[in-house]
Amino acid sequence: MTDAKPIDIVSLYPKDMNIYGDSGNVLVVRRRLELRGYEARIHAYNQGDRWPDHVDLILGGGGQDTGQKKIIRDFFERAELLRSLASDGVPMLMICGLYQLFGEYFETVDGSRLDGIGVIGAYTVGRDVRMIGNLVEHSDDFGDVIGYENHSGQTFLREGVSPLGRVDQDGRGNNGEDHTEGARVNNVIGTYMHGSLLPKNPAIADFLIRTAAERRYGSFEDQGDDAMRAELARLDVAAAEARRVAAS
Ligand code: GLN
Repeated sequence: MTDAKPIDIVSLYPKDMNIYGDSGNVLVVRRRLELRGYEARIHAYNQGDRWPDHVDLILGGGGQDTGQKKIIRDFFERAELLRSLASDGVPMLMICGLYQLFGEYFETVDGSRLDGIGVIGAYTVGRDVRMIGNLVEHSDDFGDVIGYENHSGQTFLREGVSPLGRVDQDGRGNNGEDHTEGARVNNVIGTYMHGSLLPKNPAIADFLIRTAAERRYGSFEDQGDDAMRAELARLDVAAAEARRVAAS
C-alpha cells in the first residue's frame, strides 16, 4: 500500500537487550500495524547509533546483567530524551532488564550498582536465587496477561506507582513478596514478562499501536481490507488458545 501512514518504532538496544524472544514484540507490532494498513518503520537503535528523527513507539527487551552494563553509558546519554518522550505520552514497552533500568537503580547480585533513568518509580536489588517460570497476572487495563519470567532482580515499586498487574497464582512477579508485577506510568509499561509478551497478549500490542497512532494522527483507523481483518482474527484466536493453555 503506497499511501499507508507511517508509524516510527524504535527497537531499543536489540543487540544487547533481547533475550527469551523479546524481539518477537517488534514483529507483532509491525504485523498488527500492517494489518491495519499502516506502514511500520522499525529503527533498531544500538549504542552509538543516530537517534531517528521521529519516534511514535519504543520497545525494549531484557538482558543479562552484563548486557545491561554494556549499554548503560549510551543509555544515560539518551536519558533526558527518553524521560521527555515518556512524559509526553509516547507509548513504550520495557521488558525485564530495560524495565529495571527505567526505574531508579539496579543493584546487581555482585554488588555493583547501575543507575536507572527514573521514568518508573521503582528500584531493583539482585539476589542469588533467580525467579524463573511461567507467569500469569491480572491487569485492570489488559485483563489476564501471560508470559515467562527469569530474573535475579527483585523490584519494589514506590508508593503510588501502579503495577501492570497482580500475580495471584503462578509466578513471582516484581519481587516474589507483594504480588505486584510490572509497572504502568503514563503510557510506559514495564514488565518482567518475556515469552515474547505481545504474541500472546494482543490487548497490550493494540494499546501500544492505538496510542502511537492517536498521538501522531489524532485517531486510529483500521484501514485494512477483509483479508487483513480475517488474518487479525486468526492471530487473536491463536493468542486466545495460547492464553487458555497457559492459564489452565
Ligand atoms: N539481568 C537482570 C536480572 O537478572 C534482567 C534479566 C532479564 O532481562 N531477563 O534480574
